[in-house]
Amino acid sequence: MSIHLRKASHHVISTIRQSSALQDLLIWLVVTVLVSYFSIRYDAFESFHDLSRGHEDWQLDEVFVVLFFVGLGGCLFGLRRYWDMQTYSRRLHREADFDSLTQLPNSRLAKRQLNHLLTGCPKERYVIAVLLDIDNFGTINHLYGRTTADMVLKHVATRLKLRNEKSGFVARINSDEFLACDLCDGRLHAIEDYVSDLRRVENVPIVIGKYVVNIRFSMGVAVYPKDSDNPDDLVRAAYLALEQAKTTNGIDWYLYREELGQRREYREMLSRQLYKAILNNELFMVYQPIWDQKRHLCKGFEALVRWNFQGASVPPFLFVNIAEEYGLINQLGDFVLRRSLSEMKDKLATDQYLAVNISAHQFHHDSFVPSLLDTIKGIGFDPKQLELELTETTLIDNYELLLEKLHRIRKKGVHVAIDDFGTGYSSLSRLNELSVDKLKIDRSFVEGIVDGIKEQNIVESVVSLGRKLNMQIVIEGVETEDQMDTLVELGCDLMQGYLFARPATLDKIEPRFFCVENTTIN
Ligand code: C2E
Ligand code: CA
Ligand code: CA
Repeated sequence: MSIHLRKASHHVISTIRQSSALQDLLIWLVVTVLVSYFSIRYDAFESFHDLSRGHEDWQLDEVFVVLFFVGLGGCLFGLRRYWDMQTYSRRLHREADFDSLTQLPNSRLAKRQLNHLLTGCPKERYVIAVLLDIDNFGTINHLYGRTTADMVLKHVATRLKLRNEKSGFVARINSDEFLACDLCDGRLHAIEDYVSDLRRVENVPIVIGKYVVNIRFSMGVAVYPKDSDNPDDLVRAAYLALEQAKTTNGIDWYLYREELGQRREYREMLSRQLYKAILNNELFMVYQPIWDQKRHLCKGFEALVRWNFQGASVPPFLFVNIAEEYGLINQLGDFVLRRSLSEMKDKLATDQYLAVNISAHQFHHDSFVPSLLDTIKGIGFDPKQLELELTETTLIDNYELLLEKLHRIRKKGVHVAIDDFGTGYSSLSRLNELSVDKLKIDRSFVEGIVDGIKEQNIVESVVSLGRKLNMQIVIEGVETEDQMDTLVELGCDLMQGYLFARPATLDKIEPRFFCVENTTIN
């Protein structure tokens, strides 16, 4: 039940209780006044006494006994109802403050408890607030199912609670996010001790039925009063630190620093500017050829979006990420599709295709498929010449819906490629089920391909997997001849990278890339 729903139901019940009590009181008053009036006016009790004396055969005493028991029953019923109300109200209170799955305090109660901890914190002491996020929770959900994932959360909750029983508390803030708070002496080693103690929770795998589940946390840490003097800002600071821990490779916890707040402000400013830039059509597209080294021809182009802001080019991964975070991804995605399809429509040779990147948020939006099909139709682009590049993470959530969406897209002839293959999680059985057309092997495998046996093995395996599953393989980020030669030896035909061409605006693309016959790279 959402907090709003709980609040509302609680409010309704207390209003009902108040209004029915008022009604009861009014009725009781009216009845008392009426009874008193008639009994005085007609000497009711004397008449009743005389009547009963004269009609012994009515068995009035039995009638009174029955009335007495009915009254008693009524009283008991009333009392029961009152107790039920009390229990229900207590339960509602509990539900409003505690998470029903883990029985830990929820964010509402956590805020009050944190406030309590801050106000009661002795002068020479500090309060440490740690936000924990299970990194691999999406994968756990996906691999073992919802029920097992719920059990994992319960286990994590119990373990965290055991480590925080003394002066602090643990709460479940969000689906896989927990908040642990306690008093400490504020020195770095004390903070590190606290964090490593929490980390022990992930040391022992969680066994649920036949599954053995390993968990991994990222943590963001903020300290009162150094980082903030109130609960809201302290949790916000811990969030910013958590965000930093999650986005920095090789770092699994982060202590809040003021720059993080500034970084957030910078991102907020960029999001506002990006919104304006999209509205004012200030973004533009560049295209990078996808090269078939075996046949020496250009198979197609990948469309990449660009944004120049204050005289400098903003890195696409940064503003695409900001667009996702600030809810601008659909506008950005629409722009990319419309602009690239219209620009490329009359340029592509019949055998060439255009690959467009689709972000996870964009793909999962309800209106994605209808809007894509509308755009294709409106522009008159041949759907068979369009390929959507989706990342592995896009292909994890909402599996049923995902299959249905992919089916609708592919039925129209649009192709689908998995982008950055090898960096995320893809189960082989699913790969088969999804029946995508292409895998794009991530650039990171190319960097060390010339001497790296491991990289060579991976690429070779993916190439043979692609052959077996009837998928094409494209390898990205080819920068040198040596890399190209090694890749050709490993069986790769399709390549993309600075060696062949850098991404360029339409007018700067060399004409030979649009000509599919007998093209050579020099
Ligand atoms: P991506 O989809 O993996 O795009 C390939 C990136 O590799 C591009 O970076 C491209 O310029 C770069 N690249 C190509 N060849 C080489 C090479 O030989 N060496 C090196 N070092 N890099 C190479 P770019 O354009 O900066 O884009 C970065 C990421 O931003 C893209 O990664 C994609 O995830 C995202 N992105 C770019 N354009 C769009 C878009 O229109 N929509 C969405 N949703 N995401 C986009
Ligand atoms: Ca891509
Ligand atoms: Ca890629």
